[in-house]
Amino acid sequence: RAGIVAIVGRPNVGKSTLLNALLEQKVSITSKKPQTTRHRITGILTEGSVQAVFVDTPGLHIEEKRAINRLMNRAASSALGDVEMIIFVVDGTHWTEDDEMVVNKIRQTRKVPVVLAINKVDQIKEKEILLPHIQMLSEKLNFERVMPISASKGELVDELRDYVMGALPECEHF
Ligand code: GDP
Ligand code: MG
Repeated sequence: RAGIVAIVGRPNVGKSTLLNALLEQKVSITSKKPQTTRHRITGILTEGSVQAVFVDTPGLHIEEKRAINRLMNRAASSALGDVEMIIFVVDGTHWTEDDEMVVNKIRQTRKVPVVLAINKVDQIKEKEILLPHIQMLSEKLNFERVMPISASKGELVDELRDYVMGALPECEHF
């Protein structure tokens, strides 16, 4: 049994880039244009007896919302044990109302642990500007971890991967 890790966030925050960085290989399509990932692409990472199946949400307007809904519904009915963890990705340089839409979706999953990955911090000089946003999100959701990352530069990606792999249950039959 592998743990599904859902990478969730509005378009263009860097989900596909993060997935690639986590897997250290090119498996999903990234682009400067938002909404280019048409399909949910999964990547599997195995470390010892822990296996993570990463799920990238597509960036297509209505489809994205539908896909997030589907993922969140699966996560909410955690009897299925489908989604083990959510990596909620935001763009630290660009906050929008769509981030809040995603937060509200994640709230419905309740028991699924959420890691907040604040991406693109390579573009932020004054890191303090993040604090009110973190505060605002933390009032809405309990995060297991808040990690400032740069998916494209690989900053703190190893730490994020280590955290996720360490938090997932071990597989018994492997
Ligand atoms: P997605 O729609 O959430 O999957 O976003 P993508 O992974 O396609 O990335 C959208 C854009 O943001 C692309 O141009 C990426 O190169 C860029 N990007 C992703 N991560 C970072 C980062 O850590 N720093 C910077 N500066 N740009 C990034
Ligand atoms: Mg994408």
